[in-house]
Amino acid sequence: MSLALLNSSEVKARARRLGFVACGLAKAEPVAVGFADRYRRWLELGYCADMDYLRRNVEMRLQPDLLVPGVRTIVSLAMNFMPERHQPAISLYAQGKDYHDVLRDRMRQLMDDMQLSGRCFVDTAPVLERYWAWRSGIGTFTERGGFISVPGYGPTVFLGELFVMQEADRYDGPLEQEEGLEVSGERLEDTSSPNNPLTTNLSPLTPSFCPALTAEGLDARRCVSYQTIEHRGPLPDGFRLGQTFYGCDRCLRANPQFAEAHPTDEPAFQPSEALLKMTPDDWRQLTVEQYRTLFKGSAVKRAKYEGLVRNIARWQKP
Ligand code: SF4
Repeated sequence: MSLALLNSSEVKARARRLGFVACGLAKAEPVAVGFADRYRRWLELGYCADMDYLRRNVEMRLQPDLLVPGVRTIVSLAMNFMPERHQPAISLYAQGKDYHDVLRDRMRQLMDDMQLSGRCFVDTAPVLERYWAWRSGIGTFTERGGFISVPGYGPTVFLGELFVMQEADRYDGPLEQEEGLEVSGERLEDTSSPNNPLTTNLSPLTPSFCPALTAEGLDARRCVSYQTIEHRGPLPDGFRLGQTFYGCDRCLRANPQFAEAHPTDEPAFQPSEALLKMTPDDWRQLTVEQYRTLFKGSAVKRAKYEGLVRNIARWQKP
């Protein structure tokens, strides 16, 4: 039995009503060759550090129908997370509630509203979410750090994807479409354009700005975000933290598109008064009980109490 065509305009309108600031649809085709090669090379270089899950299921990551058999359409969604005020010791994205939960709930709502069959993913499955965001035209890659920047909102967005079984009546293409790049055919292929993110750097990364930003992508081993959030065990000798002890916003803020970021009206992404009140001295005396209260339902719990205490001990600021 063939499924009814997905009405692209209706999906986008409903996504807006659910608080998403951008929504785009792409055919669920294999990831473009240049991008896939670049991802494999990034793994070979060891830039994923000990995030072994990035090495697993590589083919699934590059071919959507291996992850969800029968998938026809990928709906990319973005939600603005820029808080009105923030606790300066914590990365901007982690000031409020855990985005996984917030986005997943809204995406399930969207699937129910539209009677979509398929699955939704928020950073928890082998999905190249920035590629799909770019591919479905909801944003462009930023100059530094390879973030996705959504016009009018900048790079302070969370991304999520619906893998849907229905074909859509209309598909979107990249916003910055290179001349000669086939976006409506069966498969995107390489082009030789120096600005084409499929074949060259995702962005002109600059090691002089941060040693983690290399010509072949972000080297997680040198990145404060990776070390303070994902890494277990002691921090490397001599590793320096900046203003934040959980995550790092330097390259996010350094992008020209950051000027487009403006506060979200989503209450879930605002920090609590208790978090805002924490001072450097308070952080240095953080107890387990405080940690549990401050970060109930927060993505910061990923680092665990031990990880935060480890980070705070190495924190340079202020
Ligand atoms: S998050 Fe910080 S440490 Fe990581 S690449 Fe960006 S500026 Fe460098």
